[in-house]
Amino acid sequence: MIEVQTYGIKEMKKYPSLLDFSRIYTRRMKISNKECYLYKIKEAGLAGEDTVVDYIKRFGCEHWIVIRNMWFDDFGRCENDLTLITNTHCYVFEVKNYDHKYTHNNGVCRVKDKKVKNSPVAQARKNFLNLKKICREFSPHIQVKGALVLVAIDQEVDIQSSVEDIEVILRNDLRKYIRGIAEEERKAQQYEYIDKKGLIQYLEQYEILNPNQARAITDDEMVKLRKGICCANCGSFDLNFNNREKYVKCACGFHEPREEAILRTICEYSVLRSDKHLTRKELLNFFDGQVSHVTLSNILNKHFEKQNNGKYTYYTNMKLPIDKIRHHFKLTLPRIHYMNDQDYKIYIQNK
Ligand SMILES: [Zn+2]
Repeated sequence: MIEVQTYGIKEMKKYPSLLDFSRIYTRRMKISNKECYLYKIKEAGLAGEDTVVDYIKRFGCEHWIVIRNMWFDDFGRCENDLTLITNTHCYVFEVKNYDHKYTHNNGVCRVKDKKVKNSPVAQARKNFLNLKKICREFSPHIQVKGALVLVAIDQEVDIQSSVEDIEVILRNDLRKYIRGIAEEERKAQQYEYIDKKGLIQYLEQYEILNPNQARAITDDEMVKLRKGICCANCGSFDLNFNNREKYVKCACGFHEPREEAILRTICEYSVLRSDKHLTRKELLNFFDGQVSHVTLSNILNKHFEKQNNGKYTYYTNMKLPIDKIRHHFKLTLPRIHYMNDQDYKIYIQNK
């Protein structure tokens, strides 16, 4: 499987996603139950999409192309969670990762017996019809299919009325469904192959940038925010932080190189304040006394692009969490996670 990033996707990778923002914000700010619920839904959604991509990698074919989270605006905005292009077919998957009973009856979807405002079946159909229209313009021979993938394990699903145009795939059937795609491709090999590059370029003509961008926090929120370095693993602020030691240690067993912990925290600030340059004054305030002026200056000078001098100095804000730009920093010391069972995991760079 080859993952392709379109122009719009690459463009949005320069900015923090809603999830990047929420992961940091929810650790540092008191949030309402509703905000917490919405955040958990986003995390579950991403995990669900990762699962489907993992299944495609394991049970699909090497030449298949997957595009993640492509946005269109055609009679209303829609997001194709996953677009899969084989030699002969184009598929769009709407992925849902609900850990509750799901029912569908005559256009009404309920999760945990509560009516869902935007029916996933309707979303999946809309995405399918939109993709079909664009693909047919490009070439009348392309066969387009759509599916709603309900990816949660052991989920109770009750489809009480027929669903038009698309299929509804449960986790238990996902492997079989992907193997079926390979079989469909094999059977259709006497037909004309899709010009994949041409199709992607054609899709890009209809693509829009993800309209759900992360916001930057306000000055008022900044005052209320929990400051300082937190554990990269469990989020605790109760860390063993000693300026003479190379590692920041947490009771959960996670040991992070001190320089990386400082860099990660600068990146967390960068995501929250994506509308601002990085200044030493603001960052020192964010570290809440845990880092000296000299240490912070050294790290900023080493890893960030410096602009101006003296009191006008600022550094370029890369706006992204460390996990997305770790390669930029050339870190050498590993992160070590000591587990309860005496075993431990070592993380070097992205591994
Ligand atoms: Zn921890």
